[in-house]
Amino acid sequence: MTLTSILLRKYLPPVCLGLALFHAAAAVAAADPADLIFSNGTIYTVDPDLPWAQAVAIRDEHIIGVGGSEEIVTAHRGAETRVIDLHGAFVSPGFNDAHVHMDSTGMLLTGVNLLDVHEPVAFAERISAATRRLPQGSWIVRGDWGAYEQWGVSSSGQQGDGAPADGPFTPDRQLIDALTPDHPVLVSRFDRSMFLANSLALALAGISADTPDPVGGSIDRDESGRITGILRGSAVDLVQNVIPPMPFEQRLVGVRAVLKEAREGGVTTIQDLTDAEQLLAYQYLKRAGELTARIMVRPNIFQVEPVTQLGLSRGFGDDYLKIVGYKGWVDGIMGNSSAMFFKPYAHDPANRGALRRPMLPEGVEGAAFSMLEDDHYSEFPPGRMEEYIDAWVPTGVPAHIHAIGDLGNRILLDIYSRVLKAHNMVDSDHRWRVIHAQVVAAADFPRFGELNLVAEVNPYHVSDDMRWMEERIGAQRSEGAYAFRKLKDAGAILIFGSDSPGTNAARYYLNPVYGLYAAVSRQTLSGKPTAGWFPDQRLTIEEAIDAYTRAPAWACFDEARKGTLTPGKLADLAVFDTNLIEAGHKDPASLLEAEVLYTIVGGEIVYQR
Ligand SMILES: [Zn+2]
Repeated sequence: MTLTSILLRKYLPPVCLGLALFHAAAAVAAADPADLIFSNGTIYTVDPDLPWAQAVAIRDEHIIGVGGSEEIVTAHRGAETRVIDLHGAFVSPGFNDAHVHMDSTGMLLTGVNLLDVHEPVAFAERISAATRRLPQGSWIVRGDWGAYEQWGVSSSGQQGDGAPADGPFTPDRQLIDALTPDHPVLVSRFDRSMFLANSLALALAGISADTPDPVGGSIDRDESGRITGILRGSAVDLVQNVIPPMPFEQRLVGVRAVLKEAREGGVTTIQDLTDAEQLLAYQYLKRAGELTARIMVRPNIFQVEPVTQLGLSRGFGDDYLKIVGYKGWVDGIMGNSSAMFFKPYAHDPANRGALRRPMLPEGVEGAAFSMLEDDHYSEFPPGRMEEYIDAWVPTGVPAHIHAIGDLGNRILLDIYSRVLKAHNMVDSDHRWRVIHAQVVAAADFPRFGELNLVAEVNPYHVSDDMRWMEERIGAQRSEGAYAFRKLKDAGAILIFGSDSPGTNAARYYLNPVYGLYAAVSRQTLSGKPTAGWFPDQRLTIEEAIDAYTRAPAWACFDEARKGTLTPGKLADLAVFDTNLIEAGHKDPASLLEAEVLYTIVGGEIVYQR
């Protein structure tokens, strides 16, 4: 390609492109027929060599041509080719969601979501609806009732109406017993301060009127001594302990529900965080031809032995199901103030967060360590994280480790630095990740670039968490919170994930418009604050789409396979009724109204509105 033609391709608006290339293409009419052509689109390819186009031609699983409509139709329309006129609709590479909890998203979609429920009628209706979705005998769990009531208003802008005058809503098993004869129920209040069990669940747990309160817990009773079904503290364990592992059938139902949400949101690759049992469900659905999104799996850090014994290494699998990393955890999360910070939480002066299992000595579980002294942590029980990361090195599988608080991030950067240096890997193509990189100390940003790290971040947390971030960690630490611009400037490769299904206070959807909106506006869904929260950390819509398509594919070593709309790559596309680039620049709120018209995975239309 000459320099002139590169410049032409780069700078000519899409409408001119077809005309400019029409004559050259006409001579080779249909020599290279496609199965499917999308024409007359506004196609944003995320490929810097040809950012905009009008048409894309697909054969089998792959893209075979991208360019002007005339050019592509002339070159690739054969007798059997289906041509879909997009009438100007916007096309991007299929979205690659780098952070999804498939199992809990499935449980929420097929189970019961009570976040916005705080009165008896809706409570009973939601649980009744769940019995119709779930096979008989399945447990109905979680729910998290009362969250929006507590928050007054949810991040999604759905209004709560505040706590009613007679105090917060506390349900009774009588409310749901008749509706749930075949489904044991153990649902939680949003803060997990209490759970409601139905009579079937109580019976399965052997709890009767004679059962005494266990140490550290209580079984609520009314004035007549009747058990109401409300369990608190350790009493919840009595029921929790009899819940069997999720049946395979129920897993399938859950995965199918998440795949549906992905199709409807233009998501074609999901980087999952579920444990190994779920892999059986993916393999089953793949054989059945039902896997409509590519699932990138990550064993957990403790599984290094089986992985090594089986001789598995990075990329094991295929385009639909493969190992792209292993996951580990340094600290807790912001939602329950267990992320680890140098200084205590502003709203909880005795608390600096907690370490997770890989950071603790053998046999110690989730304890909060108070042995930290301000800015150093040399007295920490060193735990096993570093040993494990070291043991994974020969597999070539990249580390994907969760770090949220500023101290959590410091600890991880220190460990990464030591292990990468010990193996002379700092400047190698390792693509190790910090998952979340949620609150980073000013001094630590440059280390993301120095160590060549990927930051797997969740932009929607900005829209959700900003409601209480400053109250919990103050304004100064908030400068390093979700600081996407600082991470990028420091040289981190930024990749986006939804963190679906969200927190116990808000639902996070797979649909990427929420993350795009959050990244470019840094506002809540209701548009607050007007100027954006720490607005200098906003990204452009081009950067945000890159972090949701090209970059996450690269982070999985898939840059030659997908992430941009380029001939030779897998035909994974999303078609929207809204020009996302224009919306992102002119009116970010309109991103939230964008709807997916088509989702295409491997050349197959898996969703059509
Ligand atoms: Zn997560």
